[in-house]
Amino acid sequence: MGWLAGILLIGVAFSIRYAWWRRTVDYSQPRILMYHMIRPPLRRGRFNKLRVRPAEFERQLKWLADRGWRFAKLSELETLENTHKTVALTFDDGFRDNYATAHPLLAKYGAKATLFLVVDRFDRDWSTTKKAHHDSGELRAEPKLSNEEVRAMLASGVWELGAHTRTHALLTNLNATEKMHEVATAKAELEAEFDARVHSFAYPFGIFEAADKQAVADAGYSFAVTTAAGISTSLAAEALALKRIKISGKEGRLGFAIRLRTGRRGLFE
Ligand SMILES: [Zn+2]
Repeated sequence: MGWLAGILLIGVAFSIRYAWWRRTVDYSQPRILMYHMIRPPLRRGRFNKLRVRPAEFERQLKWLADRGWRFAKLSELETLENTHKTVALTFDDGFRDNYATAHPLLAKYGAKATLFLVVDRFDRDWSTTKKAHHDSGELRAEPKLSNEEVRAMLASGVWELGAHTRTHALLTNLNATEKMHEVATAKAELEAEFDARVHSFAYPFGIFEAADKQAVADAGYSFAVTTAAGISTSLAAEALALKRIKISGKEGRLGFAIRLRTGRRGLFE
């Protein structure tokens, strides 16, 4: 009986990991993917989930292109007539590898992406904003995009710009004036610096309250994205709190395919 128990155990483990029974979300609902860095993991890195290997990222782009997915910038979701099998890639924070590594691959596959840029992103480790004991300096040490690089990305037509506050602030800690500075001033500063329209916003850490959503609406953003895992089923109703599919550096190929289908992967993710 040992082998039967073994097979059952493998079946249970597989099911918890992949939750294969979860319903397919209708393919007319666009998928919004969340990335941070496209670079190899660090030895003993605390944030390796945020680091997707370049070869893995290319496999994901090829998988999407081969299966007829169409790439869209976030703002294009507002006007697209048909969003069947549409995917919007998003990159949070503004790491230099987004230009050095992700950009050539995006161009190679005819893909597009949205960059959620922190205005004042240099020499900061925002992981400490949420938890002071996280001060490993790991994110501070990651090279960030220069304004020149961002300009080149936007000029290529591959990218559009979204805002991610001025300082990667934890919005729920701020008073109304501070919230406005991080949400509305960030938009104005990015638009002035890059001579570009900024349509969308990403909540730092995915943490926000009703007043933050209101600040985002007041500032004139069309869309705001969260870190809630999944696929929003109404772009209009959920415009200021859109779910995203998290792409982790620890994700395999089967997990990626399942997330594109259902928005999530395992039972607990
Ligand atoms: Zn962020």
